[in-house]
Amino acid sequence: PEVITVQELANRMAEKGVALVKVLMGMGVMATINEVLDQDTAQLVVEEFGHKPKRVLDSDVEIGISGAEDDETDLASRAPVVTVMGHVDHGKTSLLDALRKANVVSGEAGGITQHIGAYQVEVSGQKITFLDTPGHAAFTEMRARGASVTDICIVVVAADDGVMPQTKEAIAHAKAAGVPLIIAINKMDREGANPDRVRQELLQEEVVVESFSGDVQEVEISALTGLGLDNLKEQILLQAELLELKANPSRAANGVVVEAKLDKGRGSVTTTLIQKGTVKIGDIFVAGAEWGRVRALVNDKGQQVKEAGPSVPVEVLGAGGVPSAGDDFAVVSNEARAREIVDYRQEQIKKKRALAAAGPKTMEAMFTQ
Ligand code: GDP
Ligand code: MG
Repeated sequence: PEVITVQELANRMAEKGVALVKVLMGMGVMATINEVLDQDTAQLVVEEFGHKPKRVLDSDVEIGISGAEDDETDLASRAPVVTVMGHVDHGKTSLLDALRKANVVSGEAGGITQHIGAYQVEVSGQKITFLDTPGHAAFTEMRARGASVTDICIVVVAADDGVMPQTKEAIAHAKAAGVPLIIAINKMDREGANPDRVRQELLQEEVVVESFSGDVQEVEISALTGLGLDNLKEQILLQAELLELKANPSRAANGVVVEAKLDKGRGSVTTTLIQKGTVKIGDIFVAGAEWGRVRALVNDKGQQVKEAGPSVPVEVLGAGGVPSAGDDFAVVSNEARAREIVDYRQEQIKKKRALAAAGPKTMEAMFTQ
């Protein structure tokens, strides 16, 4: 999320703003001198002028989120991360609750009262991570940033209601993200349940389920009675096996913020889904435009843990402020590095705000300088 305006870029290159605007036009980008450019566009412009691009600070690459490839030999298999989508009232929340409850051993600390936006379920020794993001806001935000968090998408369709607008949307999202689908035909306990109608309607969305000789898994379930839930979990594991999901557990941790809040007793609580590496108590981290030292780690069952590895959701205590859902999380080498990244990001945020406040661009602004 680095940003620079056309004017700033011009100043840095000692070129005129209008000259950059012209070059941008030539590239098919209509921009005023106040326009904010993303790094890739900025880099193209700089190259166009024959300058050697030098990024001020490419924190995302430097801290290893998109950088440093892992050695094949360091990779270990990890749990699939699953998102549940579907039309309103078709049973997303009920399904997530049912899967979660079935997994809670009575008497466990925290029990089912603990809600951290993501949790793990164990099925015959194998784990599945479910993302439980309210309103999918975080999920949408993460995708908008190009972060891929989900491995498998479950689309819930009520057997007594069929394919509805948000069902179609969910299917489109999953397809766009290139994430395999599992169709959960829910409310099978209902009198009006008609799973074949659902299968039929799915054809129009170009989703051909297995019982129609297609390649999309479908499972008939009832989130209310628990019917088919074991089968659903089996199907998830089957799909996960095909995906051969792996991550390097022995590097500095990277992940994504699932949700974050300020807790009266505990301070800033950053629920993070670890994607690579292992986060440990004492680690210095950056989460969006905040940083901190890991004071404590709490798992989805409310238990304190010493570390958390790939695909594990964990509450990280110790951030100086409250980051946003969808922010990246990364462990960095030292405090100075963390401060440098956060200072830079906060500066970028300020600039963006100032630009937004500056209001709409005028023709005059476009031809100033
Ligand atoms: P969401 O909007 O997709 O999260 O849907 P909810 O989980 O809130 O469910 C909407 C309504 O459908 C609630 O009243 C649930 O109790 C009910 N519901 C969900 N799953 C089932 C099911 O399998 N069978 C029946 N009979 N009702 C269900
Ligand atoms: Mg719901």
